[in-house]
Amino acid sequence: MKPVKPLNPVVRVDVAIIGGGIAGLWLLARLRQRGYSALLIESERLGTGQTICSQGIIHGGAKYSLRGQISESAKVVADMPALWRRCLHGEDDIDLRGALLVEHQYLLATRSPTSWLTAFFASRLMPGRMERVGGVGVDGYPPALRHAAFRGAVYRLDEPVVDVATVLAAFADRHREAIVLNHGPAVPAGDGAITLRHPERPALVIRPACTVFAAGAGNAALPWAAMQLRPLHMVLVRGLGLPGPLFAHFVGASDVPRLTVTTHCDASGHLVWYLGGKLAEDGVKRDRHDQIRAARRELATLLPWVNWSRTQFATF
Ligand SMILES: Cc1cc2nc3c(=O)[nH]c(=O)nc-3n(C[C@H](O)[C@H](O)[C@H](O)COP(=O)(O)OP(=O)(O)OC[C@H]3O[C@@H](n4cnc5c(N)ncnc54)[C@H](O)[C@@H]3O)c2cc1C
Repeated sequence: MKPVKPLNPVVRVDVAIIGGGIAGLWLLARLRQRGYSALLIESERLGTGQTICSQGIIHGGAKYSLRGQISESAKVVADMPALWRRCLHGEDDIDLRGALLVEHQYLLATRSPTSWLTAFFASRLMPGRMERVGGVGVDGYPPALRHAAFRGAVYRLDEPVVDVATVLAAFADRHREAIVLNHGPAVPAGDGAITLRHPERPALVIRPACTVFAAGAGNAALPWAAMQLRPLHMVLVRGLGLPGPLFAHFVGASDVPRLTVTTHCDASGHLVWYLGGKLAEDGVKRDRHDQIRAARRELATLLPWVNWSRTQFATF
């Protein structure tokens, strides 16, 4: 008699979440906290898409208020810093203690009147969430700005910055049993069932009552999904010349910060500046060499007292 091939095991869940970036992981945590059975399906590694590339800024709206009015985006994210702070200080069910890099980032205006006015009007729109740092001389400024030649304005934003790898690890540790890896993109069949395959285990069929697509760029495969694509060409700077850690938006004449700097540590514990903002948005049209030249120009313009010759640049 021919041996009977066992049927694929079937798992029934309330919710299947496709995609393990920050959106999928956060949803998984909240659903489980509220008593739903939920399973998150990831096709590569958690956070592989945009999340691991993120600068880790928990935006509260300052970046979206540079047009002189509170935009819809600014209203939507207004409560995010407070929510994340509760998690970062262990006061929420989502426990992200250990992931905080800094409590505040800064918004910096240069001497140019447009930059100065843009920052000033944004601060008027966000009282209590964007405060001018003044009256203490340069000593109260971030180390990179503690120079007599700095003549701009410094605002402290109510926006923490997190270490994204630590955030991902916290979700993975807490919800390990509810996260499955699929070999390749997970795609629901016509009846909603999702068959998961992986070389290290037998195929598994998931029958969810509801499926949430949190696959970021992977959602592009869905004919009905609206996508917002915003490619970026980011720059990394490291080396002895870096003037200490900096977490700041430099405001220019446009409603997008001309440069956004966050600071991270490489595997040897050396500081690395991560440059985004308009530099990264405009940089998608530049090749690697031109983008590095543009980044060097921008840094030399904004922080001319720093000796940038002892720094190395990379892009991705
Ligand atoms: C360079 C950069 C810097 C940024 N900085 C910030 C910042 O400082 N602050 C901020 O708030 N935002 C920032 N953002 C935006 C932020 O990173 C994204 O909004 C956020 O990470 C999106 O998360 P997500 O979970 O929706 O998608 P993603 O992080 O892209 O996650 C999608 C996941 O789905 C998986 N996947 C895809 N297809 C499938 C499939 N078919 N089956 C299973 N799994 C699948 C992917 O492998 C991935 O893990 C930045 C973005 C970039 C690119």
